[in-house]
Amino acid sequence: MDCKANQKMLPAFLAGKLETRELKQFLIHVENCEECMEELTIQYLVMTGAAILEEGNSFDLHKELEGLLEEARKRVRKRRILTIFSYLCEIFAILAVILILIMVVFG
Ligand SMILES: [Zn+2]
Repeated sequence: MDCKANQKMLPAFLAGKLETRELKQFLIHVENCEECMEELTIQYLVMTGAAILEEGNSFDLHKELEGLLEEARKRVRKRRILTIFSYLCEIFAILAVILILIMVVFG
């Protein structure tokens, strides 16, 4: 994915609306592309800035952003485990069917 495509996904990322596959691509790119990480930081600041100024809180932007990225990584990992698990279930179901067929034919 190039930078242009990545930065197009930024608003959806910040809104938490990326699908897992997109999210994964987005994270991989952002973590390896200084320019896009910078763009993400700026967009994040713009998005959260107003709310923070209103509340008057002290705010560690990089810590907050890192937290957001970590959440996203967890989401991708969790989804991957679910996907593997559902594949395994499918394989077991197929094996069970084969086993039943064998028992019917040879039993
Ligand atoms: Zn980039």
